[in-house]
Amino acid sequence: MSQWHSGLQARNFAELIAQSGGNHDRLLFQCDDGRQFTFAQFWQIAGRFAATLRGLGAKPGDRIAVQVDKSVEALAVFWACARSGMVFLPLNSAYTAAEVAYFLVDATPTVFITTPQRQNEFATTAKILTLDDVGGGSLVELSQKCEIAPDHPSNWDDLVAILYTSGTTGRSKGAMLSHGNLASNSLALVETWKFTPADVLIHALPVYHTHGLFTATNTVLLSGGTMLFRRKFDADDVIDLLPQATTLMGVPTFYTRLLQHNGLTNAATAHMRLFISGSAPLLSETHRAFTERTGHNILERYGMTETSMNTSNPYIGERRPGTVGMALPNISVRVVDAVTHAPLPPETDGMIEIKGPNLFCGYWQNPAKTQEDMTGDGYFISGDVGRYSEDGYLTITGRAKDLVITGGFNVYPKEIELLIDAMPGVLESAVIGLPHADFGEAVTAIVVAKFGSDLNEAAMIAALKNQLASFKCPKRIVILPDLPRNAMGKVQKALLRQTYAELYRPV
Ligand code: AMP
Repeated sequence: MSQWHSGLQARNFAELIAQSGGNHDRLLFQCDDGRQFTFAQFWQIAGRFAATLRGLGAKPGDRIAVQVDKSVEALAVFWACARSGMVFLPLNSAYTAAEVAYFLVDATPTVFITTPQRQNEFATTAKILTLDDVGGGSLVELSQKCEIAPDHPSNWDDLVAILYTSGTTGRSKGAMLSHGNLASNSLALVETWKFTPADVLIHALPVYHTHGLFTATNTVLLSGGTMLFRRKFDADDVIDLLPQATTLMGVPTFYTRLLQHNGLTNAATAHMRLFISGSAPLLSETHRAFTERTGHNILERYGMTETSMNTSNPYIGERRPGTVGMALPNISVRVVDAVTHAPLPPETDGMIEIKGPNLFCGYWQNPAKTQEDMTGDGYFISGDVGRYSEDGYLTITGRAKDLVITGGFNVYPKEIELLIDAMPGVLESAVIGLPHADFGEAVTAIVVAKFGSDLNEAAMIAALKNQLASFKCPKRIVILPDLPRNAMGKVQKALLRQTYAELYRPV
């Protein structure tokens, strides 16, 4: 594998960004509150924030925890850390004070940045600063009095961020990411998705998660384009922006919402060159409906907090619905037997493992878990189950932890979900295992009907019995108006398992 940074002058990610992207006076952010920032202005804010953090005693390697609403300044805190050798630690803005307390104890940040409204909720030894979503707060006030100092000479291997995984099982773990992890991935994405200074990205993702924080933002920073920066996704707003934009990065929910909007047409999307989806599976049906309405094939990619992006459908060539494409440059993605780690032939389900400069540096203060998730030959065991097609397209077929084990048989939910989704009147489904006295777990489907359709549980189960081995067939089908999803569009199976835990208990 070639050294990804051979030929670069830069020693760290901040230097790379400062040297790339062309004109520093270009418009970088056009915000929904009317504010706008050139690259030079943004970089100056980050420099002043770095000086402010240093002034509070933060040193290279110190963690800076941030739980704020989305803003350009929130992103500038990340670049303040990158420029001063500190480690950025973003937290989901929906976390309660009790949840935040766990991260503050686990990561022992020197500074904690919160919103002005919430500043009195936290008991912590960290110094507290505030930041609101329109450029106000004590961080900004203090920074206006600070002089920008030279940047810290970090190396590619130095840490720049800790991102806690969403933690659907057990406690959240802090994935440690280095300058090199993020820079290598941004370079791979700019090359693969052909970003240029002419690009205008609609940025409507949250910035506490890798998708909005790194994938979207760093691609534009590195290639020299502009972002239309929205605090929240709103379908009306995005439809209005399409004629000025060239690209959109979204979670599948963005695309299902856009499809429900009459304004989504061929003409409305004529100026766009690329729609990208990730963070959760995009239904093939959504992919096809979008192509029919707009003439654009959504490009689906696959990534995770620990690795940033791993695979992508091709920019030029077939973007195959239901697949996540092939490995990005310099990254190896294999499908293996979960026990022996031996690679499996095409069309065979197995564990997805990843190796490359994108791989995180381990879980914060958890070497045992880090070791458990790595193979002897340096691959990260993703926890996702997938298969390659004969011609090299990867499909994700499930999460290992979502596997249902019923009467000793393994059932991959995705196989059942695909059959249910293809039934008349079904919009979408989630298959889970629920505690059952006889089977250990009983295969159970949670199903959402299409608007105006009536679904009948008994008829559906009878139809599935003709297509599936009986152990795979759902014992019960629960019909709901919609599936619970988190902010990244992921179906919350853990929540469904909890809600319906008693479904098979004798009354
Ligand atoms: P996170 O660390 O929150 O980004 O979650 C990463 C997980 O999201 C992966 O391990 C996958 O299970 C899932 N994921 C990301 N992208 C996709 C995709 N395109 N299709 C299916 N699952 C995905």
